[in-house]
Amino acid sequence: MAAAARTLRIGLIPGDGIGREVIPAGRRILESLPSSLNLKFSFVDLEAGYETFQKTGTALPDKTVDTLKKECDGALFGAVSTKVAGYSSPIVALRKKLDLYANVRPVKTTAGNSTGKPIDLVIVRENTEDLYVKEERTIDTPNGKVAEAIKRISEHASFRISNIAGEIALRRQNIRAAAPGISTRDQPMVTITHKSNVLSQTDGLFRETARRALAAEKFSSVYVEEQIVDSMVYKLFRQPEFYDVIVAPNLYGDILSDGAAALVGSLGLVPSANVGDGFAIGEPCHGSAPDIEGQGISNPIATIRSVALMLEFLGEMDAAAKIYAAVDGNLDAAQFLTPDMGGKATTQQVLEDVLKRL
Ligand code: ATP
Ligand code: MG
Repeated sequence: MAAAARTLRIGLIPGDGIGREVIPAGRRILESLPSSLNLKFSFVDLEAGYETFQKTGTALPDKTVDTLKKECDGALFGAVSTKVAGYSSPIVALRKKLDLYANVRPVKTTAGNSTGKPIDLVIVRENTEDLYVKEERTIDTPNGKVAEAIKRISEHASFRISNIAGEIALRRQNIRAAAPGISTRDQPMVTITHKSNVLSQTDGLFRETARRALAAEKFSSVYVEEQIVDSMVYKLFRQPEFYDVIVAPNLYGDILSDGAAALVGSLGLVPSANVGDGFAIGEPCHGSAPDIEGQGISNPIATIRSVALMLEFLGEMDAAAKIYAAVDGNLDAAQFLTPDMGGKATTQQVLEDVLKRL
């Protein structure tokens, strides 16, 4: 007798703009996974974003948070408009409320969309502390104003982010085996990024704790190295093919992950996940893209890859690997590409091509 299928309940939060075009594509991917994976999905539509804010006075209704907490195993988040002042970003609030402490951003090229060197790396950014605790103040002095901000680094947060980086490095080794693409690597590697030569206490603690976390027995096959953040930027641009998993405190991670996204051509390709213990939200890196909204040409690949990334964190490696391989197949064949990739295909055509490859 076949084992009972696992059913995952997924919250769908399209948000604004092209979020509403790409999240349905993500749903279709989940619904179309091969039945041999023995996975079923149920979905719940949830609201957040600027339109929700205009309608209800809040960008993140309590119902969205409660449903995610009580009912869901994971979620997909589209995009929300950021062009409006005076309302705070719902994804930032969600990260706080669900304690999604890791922001994970894989950046990968395939043979078909490589502009130069093959890139297949992941940036793992700590998401709860550092300068982003937003404890700032301005003091009036006889020489004018002085503003300062707290940079808070804890052992607890540094440890868990480094641990997750190690786990990602181990897992990628398996995914590469199933969907090789163009990059090969004998040994998983984690690069710890910091500036402890200047900030010996805060970044020093991050570095020390990361070293300790990654020295665990379970990571004995992982090569651990470190880079001072400025040299990290230089090397990331000169030699991106060298990197596997990069772990960084919040601010450096923020900068590195946008920088790395620039290495692959279109924002429409880059996925991310917001990860906590036992929960993950997949989220394409792009915004609501008002300039192309409603034309049916937004690239769904970032979202489709975010679906796979979410599944990875829900423990469904086989499903994730299948999706990655289907996406790579679409990009390599370069037959159905949206205009941001120099093609003429619609969102729907790219989706159908990926589905066919699934
Ligand atoms: P927001 O305020 O929501 O961030 P934005 O104007 O900054 O919106 P982004 O979504 O950040 O727009 O996109 C920046 C550029 O990249 C835009 O020109 C947009 O059209 C393009 N772009 C972003 N995502 C995609 C996608 N999925 N497919 C095609 N083009 C995209
Ligand atoms: Mg933007």
